[in-house]
Amino acid sequence: MTAQHHPTNYSGPSDDVPAGASVVIVGGGVTGLSAAWWLAMAGVDALVLDAGLIGWGASGRNGGGCSHHHSPLFLEEQRLWPMMDELLGYPTEFRPNRIRIALDAHQFLLYRRALDNGAFHGLRSDVLDPRQVRELVPFAGDNVFGGYFYHFGGHANPHRTLQAYAWAMQDRGGRLLQHTNVTGFTMNGDHVTGVNTNRGHIACDHLVLAAGPHTGELAAQLGVDVPLASARAEMIVTEPLPLMSIGGVDGNGLYGRQTLRGNLAYGGGPHEWIDLADVNRQRPHSTPLQCSIAARVAALFPKVAHARVIRSWAGFIENTPDGRPIIDQPAQFDNLTLATLSSVGFGLSPASGHAIRDLVIDGTCSFADLSSFALSRFANLEPDWRTLQGWAPLPSPLPSPLASPRCNEPEQDVLAPLGS
Ligand SMILES: Cc1cc2nc3c(=O)[nH]c(=O)nc-3n(C[C@H](O)[C@H](O)[C@H](O)COP(=O)(O)OP(=O)(O)OC[C@H]3O[C@@H](n4cnc5c(N)ncnc54)[C@H](O)[C@@H]3O)c2cc1C
Repeated sequence: MTAQHHPTNYSGPSDDVPAGASVVIVGGGVTGLSAAWWLAMAGVDALVLDAGLIGWGASGRNGGGCSHHHSPLFLEEQRLWPMMDELLGYPTEFRPNRIRIALDAHQFLLYRRALDNGAFHGLRSDVLDPRQVRELVPFAGDNVFGGYFYHFGGHANPHRTLQAYAWAMQDRGGRLLQHTNVTGFTMNGDHVTGVNTNRGHIACDHLVLAAGPHTGELAAQLGVDVPLASARAEMIVTEPLPLMSIGGVDGNGLYGRQTLRGNLAYGGGPHEWIDLADVNRQRPHSTPLQCSIAARVAALFPKVAHARVIRSWAGFIENTPDGRPIIDQPAQFDNLTLATLSSVGFGLSPASGHAIRDLVIDGTCSFADLSSFALSRFANLEPDWRTLQGWAPLPSPLPSPLASPRCNEPEQDVLAPLGS
């Protein structure tokens, strides 16, 4: 690859804002940046706008999991990830495969779904007995019920990946404007002619909305209803530990990975439902939910339950009512593409970018049937669907679910051992 390593093209308020671009993409997360990279590779003049810094949304805060075996984009996801470093010209720290550990019979049955879905696509998985799990995962303990070794999927470093998309997109002529908040749109009949931003108007031939949880409120300004509910999810990171041979080990209701530095980075429900206004207003912060995660990581890896938690963070996940992405072109416009990934956007990003590229250029996806991502499936949605699904925000902050006195002392959350 001839890609040049350079800092992200930061564009501050004093920089010139372009009058227009062929394709304007709202959202500098993995979805928007991957789409811009794919479009730039096709020679399209693509411009990504982000209200803040790239990756400030979920794209910079996620678990890095790259295995969505239930998605129509799964095979493209699996095809592309092993090639991404080469294709992008920058490292993503992708590592293949995943081991999932079940601590009881229920989890064992649940985790079999990935095996079945993989098998449907001709991909191999091995069923592991407790002894095999402990051989492969030195941090596992005597509480293992069983497990699976999926010879597909994997994980990557979200920050590395995000930056790689941005650099690769810019290497191919794509442009990025950060600190550029899209506040509205200009239209001419069924044609979006441009976006209004805090830094002026930018014209476009085609508009892609990939603004994570904010995709709904932006689409609403165009008269398009995109049902989304925001949820806050959290992750914790331990101090570095000796490297396991496979970094992608999870289970016990958790997702996560061991980083190349050795840290265990894990998250996994419960999520806290919040109002979109709170996404706008609040800096994502951790709550005592991190202690629930820490307790489950300690149970998953009892041999390292002494490891200290050194960092935690929260991120906002965009959720559609059925948990599946929306990637679609609303019929009332001739130049609008919507993409919001409903909690699976990181792993699917190589494939979602490809799909968006196809829709923008060809009007149809060349490699997958996107009908299950169509907006029309929500045509008869109840107006109060969030409340009906139990996804409305609680009136007051969540009570601490924790038994551990240590976890109820906020100043000690960080640096407390996992198992405390
Ligand atoms: C804790 C956590 C763990 C997760 N784990 C995984 C995982 O393991 N695997 C996986 O596949 N997915 C995971 N996810 C989900 C995944 O991170 C998201 O689905 C994905 O990052 C969505 O990317 P996006 O680019 O569509 O949206 P975002 O990352 O939300 O990016 C949207 C961008 O749009 C910008 N924006 C919003 N409004 C405007 C505006 N008006 N003008 C300009 N810009 C605007 C925002 O600033 C933001 O940067 C996780 C998420 C969280 C929070």
